[in-house]
Amino acid sequence: MAEASNDQQEFVDAVEVWVEKELRPVARQYDLADEYPHAIVEQMKELGLFGATIGEEYGGLGLSAWTYAQIVIKVASVWMAPSGIFNSHLIAASAIERNGTEEQKRKYLPKMATGEMRGSLGLTEPNAGSDLQAIRTVAKLDGDHYVVNGSKTWITNSLHGHMTLLLVKTDPEAQPRHKGMSMLIAEKGPGYNVDGKLKKMGYRAIDTCQLSFDDYRVPKENLLGGVEGRGFIQTAGGLELGRINVASRGAGIAEGSLKMALRYAQERSAFGKPIWQHQAIQLKLADMVTQVEGAKRLIENAARKYDSGERCDLEAAMAKLAGSEAGVHCSQEAMRIFGGYSLSVEYEIERFYRDSMLMVIGEGTNEILRQVIAKQLIERYKI
Ligand SMILES: Cc1cc2nc3c(=O)[nH]c(=O)nc-3n(C[C@H](O)[C@H](O)[C@H](O)COP(=O)(O)OP(=O)(O)OC[C@H]3O[C@@H](n4cnc5c(N)ncnc54)[C@H](O)[C@@H]3O)c2cc1C
Repeated sequence: MAEASNDQQEFVDAVEVWVEKELRPVARQYDLADEYPHAIVEQMKELGLFGATIGEEYGGLGLSAWTYAQIVIKVASVWMAPSGIFNSHLIAASAIERNGTEEQKRKYLPKMATGEMRGSLGLTEPNAGSDLQAIRTVAKLDGDHYVVNGSKTWITNSLHGHMTLLLVKTDPEAQPRHKGMSMLIAEKGPGYNVDGKLKKMGYRAIDTCQLSFDDYRVPKENLLGGVEGRGFIQTAGGLELGRINVASRGAGIAEGSLKMALRYAQERSAFGKPIWQHQAIQLKLADMVTQVEGAKRLIENAARKYDSGERCDLEAAMAKLAGSEAGVHCSQEAMRIFGGYSLSVEYEIERFYRDSMLMVIGEGTNEILRQVIAKQLIERYKI
């Protein structure tokens, strides 16, 4: 795997050391308490993770998607949730870097690269998740400001973050619907309300919140790219990197689950021998490692294409499908291998199991992704 330059490989190695030394010992405690890991965020700032994929000209590390995927797998193989803190932030940063005016990039990216300003992505609404064109949050121009009214839900990083890249309707009557959608760089201010942290089964400790906007004013110069009507396309443009990331989080959960199961299967005995010597357990371990390795190869393939500037929507969708399903399957199989102890919070496998489900839902549900994959296939192999 010689895809990373020496510098980038050194960074991956540094993250691995940090994950083992700092993250592993505290993961269970933060997760069970559902407590935001402020100290971990400070350490991630020091490491440079908030600038991982931001260009060097804006103060980031400019890492390739390939290197970034390796980092995310390492973090998620120990505790997936913190990878969401820098991932949502980096998706917002990458949208600004791809679509923003030079002024917007100079204003926001350097502060985002250090983690001083942390971002979230505000797309989903109570009535609209997969069908984003159905959103109802409206931004009306009033002099030099947009006045925003509406609500968002499930927005990660929105309590402790400082700004949201907000998908709004600037022309609610437009047809087709996407032509009336725009993105605003929304810093917190009067009328931007965080209505409370949602209680979640998994992906705990991280602030995922409901937001409401009540005559909230955003300066006109914060319209992403400076032109209305591009918000949906700007959102879709970030999906490839977002899906490589979610794939990596799923693959990390899968790999972490496999490692825990391998250890437990050698420590635990039943009927006079370590349980790994029972064929039923061997079948599980074999399927798990095959899924993990398969998902990692698909992620590498998608990331390689992304880095070379090629279109990779099919590859990123396949990687996301494989990585996230590997996370669910492997954590569930590991639960079975742990037997009754899987339900004990003493063994952390139950956290991997709880965290795994989000990966099949975020960045396009796997139902929708299967349709994306099939349509792409037909387009590429048309008879
Ligand atoms: C913990 C957590 C964190 C999140 N963080 C963020 C965030 O930071 N920012 C943000 O904007 N959002 C966030 N989300 C929201 C997430 O992106 C949405 O939940 C996701 O897009 C799915 O939308 P939905 O939940 O409304 O499901 P729906 O769209 O209502 O889907 C429900 C079911 O219908 C299926 N379905 C819908 N349409 C189709 C179709 N055309 N074909 C086939 N099947 C279909 C889906 O696959 C699914 O099975 C988060 C969600 C969670 C749970």
